[in-house]
Amino acid sequence: MLNIVLFGPPGAGKGTQSELIIDKFGLSHLSTGDILRGEIAAKTELGSKAKSLMDNGELVPDSIVIGMIESKIAGANGSKGFIFDGFPRTVAQAEALDGLLEKYSTEIHEMIALEVDEAELKTRLLERGKVSGRADDQDISKIENRIRVYKEQTLPVANFYSNQNKYKGIDGVGSIEEIFERISHAIENA
Ligand code: AMP
Repeated sequence: MLNIVLFGPPGAGKGTQSELIIDKFGLSHLSTGDILRGEIAAKTELGSKAKSLMDNGELVPDSIVIGMIESKIAGANGSKGFIFDGFPRTVAQAEALDGLLEKYSTEIHEMIALEVDEAELKTRLLERGKVSGRADDQDISKIENRIRVYKEQTLPVANFYSNQNKYKGIDGVGSIEEIFERISHAIENA
């Protein structure tokens, strides 16, 4: 199995690049943001708990997202591996993920971290907000809150993988194809 964490701040291009990675490398895509938006659309109890947190750019509790990931991994028999997109977002989630993968005698092989400066992130998210319909992409104060939450709660996850020698920083500015080229190179050398 090949398991990759695709990491980066909101607007770094994780969703776009994940689609290309799953096509080329045949990995299963696990996006906690997509799963949560699916729960909201299906009007489940979990979705209603998550909605206002997500709309305001706050994190959903660790226990909820870890439980979701656990059931997705358990249901993905025979997968060639996973691309984790938007997860883990806290050190507690990263520790839980290590434990989960260990049950399947596997591990995270590499964290690919997309590096994009803050001004570019804000521009991209506001542009996406015009077409995505996502409440959390709509106004600058929500976007700034997501970037603040990222710095405070999520950035320590980069150190977590760096300490395991699994961190690979990638320049996330350029055309989609150029960035994908850099990512492909990193995955091929994982
Ligand atoms: P994303 O689609 O990855 O930008 O996630 C959208 C929103 O879903 C985030 O701002 C959080 O509110 C929530 N979310 C997604 N993934 C996680 C996670 N791993 N832990 C906590 N909250 C999450």
